[in-house]
Amino acid sequence: MGVMNFSLRRRRALAAAMRAGADALLVTHPPDLRYLCGFTGSAGALALTKGRAKLFTDGRYREQAKLEAPGLPLSIESRPAAQAASLWLSESATRCLFNAAHVTVLEIDALRQALPSSKRRGFLQPGQDLVARLREIKDATEIERLRAAAALGCRLFDQALGEIASGATEIEVALTLEQGARRAGAEGMSFDTIVASGERSALPHGRATMAKLPRTGFVTLDFGVLLEGYCSDMTRTVHLGRPKSDARSVYDSVLEAQLAGVAAVRAGVEARAVDEAARSVLRTAELGEYFSHSTGHGVGLEIHEGPRIAAKQTARLEAGMVITIEPGVYLPGRFGVRIEDTVLVTRNGAEVITPTTKALIEL
Ligand code: ZN
Ligand code: ZN
Repeated sequence: MGVMNFSLRRRRALAAAMRAGADALLVTHPPDLRYLCGFTGSAGALALTKGRAKLFTDGRYREQAKLEAPGLPLSIESRPAAQAASLWLSESATRCLFNAAHVTVLEIDALRQALPSSKRRGFLQPGQDLVARLREIKDATEIERLRAAAALGCRLFDQALGEIASGATEIEVALTLEQGARRAGAEGMSFDTIVASGERSALPHGRATMAKLPRTGFVTLDFGVLLEGYCSDMTRTVHLGRPKSDARSVYDSVLEAQLAGVAAVRAGVEARAVDEAARSVLRTAELGEYFSHSTGHGVGLEIHEGPRIAAKQTARLEAGMVITIEPGVYLPGRFGVRIEDTVLVTRNGAEVITPTTKALIEL
């Protein structure tokens, strides 16, 4: 299916989500631009009304924008966001929503200046992010790409296992993952690769360092590739040497929590119920206080996007969402364990798209 088809379909869905009284949108966040029109440049603005869309970008992206967003009206401007007003004015829009997280005060000032004085007050309004909401439910094209990215992640993990040995540095292990990703055509990694060994495994976000892997102890690998614009995300914790009984028992509890989280996933369920399913297992094991983050997040064009799978989230899961389930236990100064899968929410449950084994691997 061509770029134009799915872009057009997504813009129509967005137009349908626009409410009366807010009949125009400004989109500047690069992943949103890619989602809505295929444009992958680092600077641009998409002006939308219910019936029309126009892309504004600067001279660097003239040819790229034509190639990536064929058929979409294009305007080359030195200040793309500031010029977007022209479309809304020609369509007699009454109110324009923008996402305050992605538009600078400078851009809003410039936009205001471009409006006739009668519209300067109240026309531009920070509003709920309709695009982010739309992006939470993946379409068929996106699910295919997320599956491909996740499958590559699983292959890279299997290859990296051969590099995990006492005395190797964390960075060497990360390099194996990253080189393999690039060789397989990935644009890059979806975030800084986490390789956290020994006591460092107790750091939930321990980026790979020059630390040498110990003779015995856990090694946590949390990494993702960026393939055709889509992120993968998975974590496995392996053990060098034979785990002692306390390490084994923490691993078993985290695995039980992770499986309970995955088992709780189904369209219609509140996100907080999934968090609770995982968290309650660790609470019962008296490890609840060491699970210091939320259970998961959406994955797509960005590594962290909606929905949040956390204790207070009452939003309901919907079929087509792609989320992570990643409980962890971190014992400061001792060790940590995290296990993370990416799953596709379906009507009846969850389909794990990172099916690499979760049995404890001893190396
Ligand atoms: Zn992760
Ligand atoms: Zn994650």
